[in-house]
Amino acid sequence: MNINQNYENLEQSYLFSTIAHKVNDFVSKNPDKKIIRLGIGDVTLPLCKKVVEALHKAVDEMGVQETFRGYGPEQGYDFLREAVKKYYQKRNVELELDEIFISDGAKSDLGNILDLFAQDNTVLVPDPVYPVYVDTNVMAGRKVIFAEANGENGFLPMPAGENADIIYICSPNNPTGAVYNKDQLKAWVDFALERKAVILFDSAYECFISDENLPRSIYEIVGAKDCAIEFCSLSKTAGFTGTRCGYTIVPKALGKLNKMWLRRQTTKFNGVPYIIQRGAEAVFTEEGQKEIKENINYYKENAKIISDTLNRCNIWHVGGKHSPYIWLKCPNDMKSWEFFDYLLENVQIVGTPGAGFGRNGEGYFRLTSFGSRENTIEAMKRFEVLFK
Ligand code: PLP
Repeated sequence: MNINQNYENLEQSYLFSTIAHKVNDFVSKNPDKKIIRLGIGDVTLPLCKKVVEALHKAVDEMGVQETFRGYGPEQGYDFLREAVKKYYQKRNVELELDEIFISDGAKSDLGNILDLFAQDNTVLVPDPVYPVYVDTNVMAGRKVIFAEANGENGFLPMPAGENADIIYICSPNNPTGAVYNKDQLKAWVDFALERKAVILFDSAYECFISDENLPRSIYEIVGAKDCAIEFCSLSKTAGFTGTRCGYTIVPKALGKLNKMWLRRQTTKFNGVPYIIQRGAEAVFTEEGQKEIKENINYYKENAKIISDTLNRCNIWHVGGKHSPYIWLKCPNDMKSWEFFDYLLENVQIVGTPGAGFGRNGEGYFRLTSFGSRENTIEAMKRFEVLFK
């Protein structure tokens, strides 16, 4: 047996374990100090009522002979795929049912999709970004190159003639919260079409976009169906981080890829539980949409509180408007980890050092709006005292 040596090439990710270690150390030395965590990417508000009702109902169905379900279709039940199809129609995107694949979340599909691509493809990944894109390609032994995101381009890198076959785009971006507009995405689509590359578009945070002119799906861009696969998730949309459900769109215009993905899923995946798919279906009902919007607005109000505070402190930042993440430049030219320690020591706020998301994240810091209102207000009061 020979192991996959590519795993040796993974960068050790010390980010969240180092954070936990530093916080635990601080707490043991300062047991009376209250820590406020604005670092996590997980949601805090519970599932909405409509979803919980649907989950209960589906559990009851599973306990009755007549409505019990065993294995379902690997690509998802039609009732949920229909709901996703209608969701896209609201933005004038027409999808066929067999272009929609229900998943147990975006992370697994983002990794699994790589089964469809040869090893000798070159992969273009924005830096900084959600670390899963790089790691899954390193595991497969692919060459990864980076699209440099930085303060000058507002953390929205544009195509620069890179020699890439697989292009990752995450908009709204984790960790920066920056969002591409239609013209910018069009430039990426044109670039991919010209190069015969594929775009892997991660829209996990699309529901945070409130400006109608900003694209929530890459398929709002002409030509995208010929070059892009889209990954979406109910994790941040509807608090499904623990419940697990998402969807991936593989257009038939991509030729063999649609059939290959079906084949891959029917071979290696046995579908999302019926109960969970009924809960997910409820997210797309009128009432479900209203309820999840209230939760998203709650987080966005938190983001505004953070952003307003940073403005008053004259601290450069992006994100927060169409995203749960606020990406700020560390004051006084501090490095990411230096700023982490400074905040923890002085005001007991825990955020995420930007350096953990890529080389270009050094000197930056991510705060999230997923905390409670009370904690967000308290954290920002402490922050302002320090920097105003
Ligand atoms: N994509 C991005 C950009 C994310 O930030 C996350 C989670 O934080 C995911 C995908 C994973 O989502 P899921 O919970 O659906 O696996």
